[in-house]
Amino acid sequence: MIRINTNYAKLQASYLFATVAKKVAAFREAHPEQEILRLGIGDVTRALPDSIVAAFRRGVEEMGNDRTFRGYGPDYGYEFLREAIAANDYLARGAKVEASEIFVSDGAKCDTGNFQEILSADARVAVPDPVYPVYVDSNVMAGRTGSFRDGRYEGLVYLDSTEANGFIPALPETPVDVVYLCFPNNPTGAVATREQLAAWVDWARRHRALILFDAAYEAFIRDERIPHSIYEIPGAREVAVEFRSFSKTAGFTGTRCAFTVVPRECVAADAAGRPVSLHDLWSRRQSTKLNGVSYPVQVAAAAVYSPEGKRQTRAIVDFYLENARLIRERLSGMGFACTGGDNSPYVWVKTGMESWKFFDLLLEEAGVVCTPGSGFGRCGEGYARFSAFGSRESTLKAMERIEALELAREVG
Ligand code: PLP
Repeated sequence: MIRINTNYAKLQASYLFATVAKKVAAFREAHPEQEILRLGIGDVTRALPDSIVAAFRRGVEEMGNDRTFRGYGPDYGYEFLREAIAANDYLARGAKVEASEIFVSDGAKCDTGNFQEILSADARVAVPDPVYPVYVDSNVMAGRTGSFRDGRYEGLVYLDSTEANGFIPALPETPVDVVYLCFPNNPTGAVATREQLAAWVDWARRHRALILFDAAYEAFIRDERIPHSIYEIPGAREVAVEFRSFSKTAGFTGTRCAFTVVPRECVAADAAGRPVSLHDLWSRRQSTKLNGVSYPVQVAAAAVYSPEGKRQTRAIVDFYLENARLIRERLSGMGFACTGGDNSPYVWVKTGMESWKFFDLLLEEAGVVCTPGSGFGRCGEGYARFSAFGSRESTLKAMERIEALELAREVG
């Protein structure tokens, strides 16, 4: 009989969100009258702004007319979108990225999950802890790990993000070929300063390692001193690939559009130690396995860079940031130590008890749903993630209900 890829057998069941959903469903059944306030979700809730919907419609209209109809698009995205990205996201910030180095796709989840495919099977991989699970699971599937023991996969290097290091992991102490970094971070909400990113770029250059930089939440950065792109750091083009997404920037979680930047200088070694362009390999990979992103979606994504699109998407991000500020302010006021929430939609809260115990308490006593930090890795134990993607009303109501519990404690 045909055999499976046995690496899949090592994967842990998607315990976190499945368990959250199960517990919420059980609570709903037991308390049908209680309104549940969800501050656990990482999905946006505000509608696409009208300038983007208008562009989306124009794209659809063109598809419905023989004269303007388009079939398969370019493998790496339409030039109008790649040019808009290069000009607005990079050149405008003093980072040199050319349109030809941008690969448009239908999601940063796929790109962050797929990129490891073009690296050697024995590449030594480092991931932050806590972590966005896609980086870990895609490497498990590819066979770069051993079994799962005590909350970690053997063979992966885990970089602890803790209160002690301000949730910015220290440089690896063991040899590593590739490291995943994510700033603003999911789940901690931490952001890396220019100096911290420069230290990572310097490390990667010295060790000839590769940084896979996930900047899916860059639109939430408001502090002028925080870089939005790793390419704002000199020397990063040789050692870093960057992932971006329109999901959180412009409400595209259900529309699907993202992109990955692979600079031409970025190289890795072949079996004989000769340098090979990662740009060329990723081009080959994408043109083999992806047939591009829908034309109307790309027209809508390009509209994010129009003056009206910029204004409207920024206003929505500002709305979420105000929710995040309120969550942080109110929880801090109750005595909880909080990280994130100022340049990020996530607030990472020190719970003063086990993550799941805190989750159960908030659900049972207040009807409020958060995400237990332990679900993101061993270092997340004792924390919970609060998301700012809800409505203002439910955010405020959730804070009032938690305040009423009088959990007051010094957990800082
Ligand atoms: N990267 C991080 C860190 C995320 O949190 C998410 C979504 O929650 C993604 C990537 C996925 O983005 P996309 O919707 O473009 O697949």
